[in-house]
Amino acid sequence: MRTINVTVWNEYLHEVQEPEIGEVYPAGIHGALAEGLGANDDLAVRTATLAEPAHGLTDEVIAATDVMIWWGHMGHHLVDNGVVAKVHEAVLSGMGLIVLHSGHYSKIFRRLMGTNCSLLWREANEKERLWVLEPSHPIMEGLPPYFELEAEEMYGERFDVPTPDELLMVSWFQGGEVFRSCATWRRGHGRVVYFRPGHEEYPTYRDEHVLRVITNACRWAARTVNIATNHAPNVEALEWVPGASARAAAAAQAGADSVGS
Ligand code: ZN
Repeated sequence: MRTINVTVWNEYLHEVQEPEIGEVYPAGIHGALAEGLGANDDLAVRTATLAEPAHGLTDEVIAATDVMIWWGHMGHHLVDNGVVAKVHEAVLSGMGLIVLHSGHYSKIFRRLMGTNCSLLWREANEKERLWVLEPSHPIMEGLPPYFELEAEEMYGERFDVPTPDELLMVSWFQGGEVFRSCATWRRGHGRVVYFRPGHEEYPTYRDEHVLRVITNACRWAARTVNIATNHAPNVEALEWVPGASARAAAAAQAGADSVGS
C-alpha cells in the first residue's frame, strides 16, 4: 500500500481570534481535517499554518508533499507571494492541491485558475444538499446519490472559474441557488480539486460524507510524477537537418536555455 503524504494548510485565524469559532474547531480546522483524514492508514498527514515560518511550507515540506489541502479566508492577502510561487510550481510538477470553501479566493487558486474565482454568498444557516453527478469517479467512491448539511453558508453561481475538466457535484441551497461544488482541473502535471463545504461556523469537517470526499480527493490528486516544467532547453537535432540555419546550429551547440527565435 502506497503512503500518501498530505499537508493540510490552514490560515488558522478565525479559530484563534473568535471564541465561538474556536469552540467549533478547538484544534483548528487543520486539526479537525488531520484527525478525520488520519483515520486512513494510507494517509500520512501533517499540518501547516500561516503563523509558522514560511507559513509552514518550507522547501522540505513542499518537496515531501504528495497532496496539499488549502483552507484560507480572512488572511489570503497575508500569504507570502514567494510561498505561493513555490506551491504553484509544485503543482505544475505534479503535486495535488485540494482547495476548500473560502479558499476559492486564495492567491494559489486564483493563480492556478487564471480567473477571479468570484461567486455569490450568504450566511443564513441554510441547508445544503450536494448531488453526486459522476458516481463512477474515484472522488465520489462510497457516497450516496446525495447528502445534506443541515446548516452551511450559501455559495451561488456564477463561480468565476474556467470550465472544469470534471464536474463531480452540484449543491442546492434552501434559498434557491445552485453551485458547482466539486470540480477538478489539471494544471501542468498536477491535479487540482475544488470542494465547496466548510464554513468556519459549522462542524462541516466532521461530517462523514465531507471527509469521504476529501479522503478520496487526496488519493486521486496525489502526486504520481515529479517533472520540472520551468525550463525550455534548446536541443540538438537527432540527425542532420539540411535546412538548419547557421544561427540555429550555433544556438543548439551552445545548449542555450530558452534563447533563440
Ligand atoms: Zn465561509
